[in-house]
Amino acid sequence: TTPTVMITGTSSGVGLYATQALLDRGWFVVCACRDGQKMTQAAQELNLNPEQYIVIHLDLASLASVRQFVQEFRQIGRPLQALVCNAAVYMPLLKEPLRSPEGYELSVATNHLGHFLLALLLLEDLQANPAPDRRLVVLGTVTANSEELGGKIPIPAPADLGDLAGLAAGFQAPITMIDGKPFKPGKAYKDSKLCNMIMTRELHRRYHASTGITFSSLYPGCVADTPLFRHSYPTFQTLFPWFQKNITGGYVSQALAGERVAQVVADASFQESGGHWSWGNRQAKDGKPFVQKLSAQATDQNRAERLWDLSRQLVGLT
Ligand code: NDP
Repeated sequence: TTPTVMITGTSSGVGLYATQALLDRGWFVVCACRDGQKMTQAAQELNLNPEQYIVIHLDLASLASVRQFVQEFRQIGRPLQALVCNAAVYMPLLKEPLRSPEGYELSVATNHLGHFLLALLLLEDLQANPAPDRRLVVLGTVTANSEELGGKIPIPAPADLGDLAGLAAGFQAPITMIDGKPFKPGKAYKDSKLCNMIMTRELHRRYHASTGITFSSLYPGCVADTPLFRHSYPTFQTLFPWFQKNITGGYVSQALAGERVAQVVADASFQESGGHWSWGNRQAKDGKPFVQKLSAQATDQNRAERLWDLSRQLVGLT
């Protein structure tokens, strides 16, 4: 039977090209998108076969939407073999935080809390699938891993969850940041991506042995020309891809990033749970994937457990 993968945020960038790469491998893709029309148009431009995918509405920022989405997915009756948590927003120029329907700061609500609820609800579906190889794959990033050079850049600040005081206090106004400190929108993104990587490790620790599901995160390379950067300064949007292509050598195309996600979802060599995959920061030709070491922030067990418990409360799972 055709295996089914669900991918969040397939209307552009890495998620769109991961969809294409998995369709090419013969998978059926459930496209979880907040803008169905934009997805349909993107799919037409890439000539995706409409019989191989379905679009279901999901606004990750809204916990009600996540729950509704899971109900709708269950109605189509396809056993879930893999979930890819890919969607994200990055809004580095905001002066004031935007808020989710529940009142949470929007980038953490979307990138972390929405995916946290989605992953926990869909664990049941992955577990119910009798296939021996089921996977849950999460997009992490180098800028949230201070173990690597790209994660040490202090603009505006490295990822740092502090003592999670902001989450513990309910994460609603006037609180804007996980650590409870003043709002820094670029850091809010990095913090949310750090949460994504911690969530993956914690899923592995809690559920891999009992379910056999493979949990991994990955850094696909610097995909400097996706719409992720559309809320940055226009000059940054021109210079950043050039810089990554010519100076750091970190640039990867959207198609290659999508292909890498598809490998982590489908290839036998990636059926190893608990790791964070990378192809390195500089893109050597024919560079080989390896399990990248994560920072002390990302591997601190006490903080991971506290983040898990607070996230459960904030998404209403207790
Ligand atoms: P894009 O902006 O191209 O894609 C993001 C996707 O997420 C879009 O489909 C977007 O939908 C969707 N999305 C945003 N908000 C929501 C929401 N509330 N509900 C549902 N979907 C939503 O960015 P990328 O492809 O670059 O990023 C994809 C992932 O890759 C992210 O997790 C990012 O952190 C990660 N990553 C990216 C890197 C890069 O260099 N670009 C490097 C490392 C990791 P819409 O079209 O409606 O906005």
